[in-house]
Amino acid sequence: MTFEEMIALTGFRGVGDGKKASGRGMLFGFPTEVVTIGKGLIFVCSVDTLVTAKQYKAIRRRLKQDERTKGKLTVTATIHKDASNTTGKFFSIMFNFGKEDPTQLYEQIMPLLEVILREEGVYPAVNCPICELTGGDSLATYGGRTTIVHMRCLQKRKDEQLETLELKKYSGGHFRGIIGGLIGGVVGAIPALFALYFFEYYVGVLFAIIPVGIYYGWKLFGGIMSRFTTVFAILYTIVVAVLVDLMHIWLVIRAEFPRWQITFAEMIELYFHPQAGEYLRRSSLMALLFSAIGIFVAWRLITRTDKHELADLETAIEQAIPISPEDR
Ligand SMILES: [Zn+2]
Repeated sequence: MTFEEMIALTGFRGVGDGKKASGRGMLFGFPTEVVTIGKGLIFVCSVDTLVTAKQYKAIRRRLKQDERTKGKLTVTATIHKDASNTTGKFFSIMFNFGKEDPTQLYEQIMPLLEVILREEGVYPAVNCPICELTGGDSLATYGGRTTIVHMRCLQKRKDEQLETLELKKYSGGHFRGIIGGLIGGVVGAIPALFALYFFEYYVGVLFAIIPVGIYYGWKLFGGIMSRFTTVFAILYTIVVAVLVDLMHIWLVIRAEFPRWQITFAEMIELYFHPQAGEYLRRSSLMALLFSAIGIFVAWRLITRTDKHELADLETAIEQAIPISPEDR
């Protein structure tokens, strides 16, 4: 289905261009974004609480088994397990119209979907995610999903972001971030060190906590978030991962050979000695490998700068579409 056909079919407003183009509108009370895929459409609707696997199954089954749509429609619904953040609060469903006439089928499935969603207890997100109040006047992308917002809230958020950026310049710039990042990296290293020391395990996900810790430490201390933050997070993650490895070996030696009394400084010397044994070399390679995995896992987070946050808000304002009171 082409983009134009999708817009004509849904009556939604087209936003963005090229690969990022999508339709946006209200689908019986649900703030919704729609994109085309092959001979079908994917609807992503914002909901007030996370949709459970059980609900998804019931919705899919009922849509497929209805007399009007039976055998004509492929329905795929994706379960979002991430309940921890607002971005997980959406319901997505894909309709594949196959050889059927999309217009006719669309007119049949939509009233059906409305009833099923209501009966299965799936309700739309109606509050503005910024002020948590109802009565939003626009549809915009906020927190990674299409949702109802107050335009004045979006504007306010953007002004605050601009203000924060200005403020950061006069309150130490990157300096605060470096202090926060240094502390955050140490805190983030604790799980990886624990796993190594107690279970002798390198766990990639635990190494990802190191760059995440650096990022949040930096953010918490109010440092400017820029490309420099990303570079710092990468380099410092490698340093911390190597230190975790070093610390682990040191603790093991201290426990196994108590009479050796090796100091941490001596350990560092031994670790980086050109003629360090096979074991140490392999261990340091593991540390490097796992810091790379950690950086990879946390990549989307550590590459987000203040400018990205601002640009996202600007795009949200630019692409917001007004909604009428009866749509809310
Ligand atoms: Zn609001």
